[in-house]
Amino acid sequence: MSYSKPTFKEKYGNFINGKFVNPVGGAYFENRSPIDNSLIAKYARSQKEDVNNAVAAANAAQDAWGKTSAAERAALLNKVADIIEANLEEFALVETCDNGKAIRETLNADIPLSIDHWRYFAAVIRAEEGSATELDANTLSMNIKEPLGVVAQIIPWNFPLLMLSWKLPPALAAGNCVILKPAEQTPSSATLLMEKIADVFPPGVLNIIHGFGPEAGKPLASHSGVNKVAFTGETTTGQLIMQYASKNLNPVTMELGGKSPNIFFNSVMDEDDAFLDKAIEGAVLFAFNQGEVCTCPSRILVQEDIYDKFMEKVVARTKAINQTNPYDINCMMGAQASNDQYEKILSYIKIGKEEGAKVLAGGDVCKLEGELANGYYIQPTILEGHNKMRVFQEEIFGPVVAVTKFKDEAEALEIANDTLYGLGAGVWTRDAHQLYQIPRAIKAGRVWVNCYHAYPAHAPFGGYKKSGFGRENHLMMMNHYRQTKNMLISYDKNKLGFF
Ligand code: NAD
Repeated sequence: MSYSKPTFKEKYGNFINGKFVNPVGGAYFENRSPIDNSLIAKYARSQKEDVNNAVAAANAAQDAWGKTSAAERAALLNKVADIIEANLEEFALVETCDNGKAIRETLNADIPLSIDHWRYFAAVIRAEEGSATELDANTLSMNIKEPLGVVAQIIPWNFPLLMLSWKLPPALAAGNCVILKPAEQTPSSATLLMEKIADVFPPGVLNIIHGFGPEAGKPLASHSGVNKVAFTGETTTGQLIMQYASKNLNPVTMELGGKSPNIFFNSVMDEDDAFLDKAIEGAVLFAFNQGEVCTCPSRILVQEDIYDKFMEKVVARTKAINQTNPYDINCMMGAQASNDQYEKILSYIKIGKEEGAKVLAGGDVCKLEGELANGYYIQPTILEGHNKMRVFQEEIFGPVVAVTKFKDEAEALEIANDTLYGLGAGVWTRDAHQLYQIPRAIKAGRVWVNCYHAYPAHAPFGGYKKSGFGRENHLMMMNHYRQTKNMLISYDKNKLGFF
């Protein structure tokens, strides 16, 4: 079964104060599909004045929104989830068109996960228990959670609707008004969502600003009218955003890059057991979403005594990945998200070859026919080498995995932790000791054990080291969007006796 490109209007403005508005300066930028380089639509090229308008709308709405009950806010979040669910296929198609990823991923992963995040935070905000402590017979200490105020959120292009759905629900559930800037490469699903939910929230509660980082993102992150900045993107951009936010002493949360190790111990190698097949698939998941995943298992580490046999199977499975039209339900790996990405990934494959890495699979562009010849397709690529090479140390953000071997647990850990990043990791073993001790010793915020690439809303997610700080998802995310008011209440009729 194959779908076709969805239809779009000629141009889209920003969503501010409950309605679509033209950018103040009247400028738009072209957004193209990486599938075939065809024009999707034009989107508002926002500047400081547009940001000012959105921040003013959010501030005007903040007081009333912050006073709504948890039940009222939860009902609206659930309504958004229902609307996305009722239009799941349309959202999936728009996402595939905009980002280039295979339709089977957007239908089965991106959009259902997005829906679940809205529902999860709708439930969480109502399930909370208060905290009151009796300090002595006459004094009560009460902690009350209050919204932070107006929140700025800036997201990347690799999971456009899912990243939006990681950011908006906890902030809104906590009673904040929001201005979100989608990535300029993928503005479409956020726009579609605003079209579908335009009337759900009171005007000003939820605002979307399109545009480029320096022109729209910077004024947003540095605005004195916002009270918090939440960012997902590259580590170097995160460093800039922290500087902007520091001007206003605003709290920030940072979800940044990664170079995640995926470690296979020799106990996975039992040819008579289905678990080996699961482990092979776990290694090949480096190609999931074209490798454009912050937690991409981009370094495979295999114990030396099983290396040859194991890698033979990984290479065979990688070569069987079906690259075809991303709208085709049988497509397993789509187009890279943009020409910039395409060029960057190819340059890293070249760097790897020049460094002396051996190409075990792929290593070149993937040529597709017809209009797809204009798209950005790269073969899933396996490079064999050692952990000091640039292809092992730098985030490529593409379907390129760097493979090496290790002798024992100590060497596996040394290689795994020899990186600036600390976002994700995978450990594959049947050994009960390794199942616990190895993940505990890896310096990363999420370690998958005998699985990879699962992102449930109720499991906290975030980075160590240069992969950022703060946690997304899970109940603990709510506290990044709230502050604590402590009330100390005295029931004592008697004075202190000091004065
Ligand atoms: P990016 O940093 O280039 O852009 C992210 C967002 O920041 C975009 O909206 C962009 O317009 C904006 N931006 C860029 N420069 C800015 C500036 N000077 N001021 C304000 N805003 C600015 O990242 P990207 O290329 O879109 O995304 C890929 C990166 O995101 C990878 O490094 C990946 O690992 C990371 N990522 C991390 C997570 C996570 O949860 N840790 C999830 C997804 C992606």
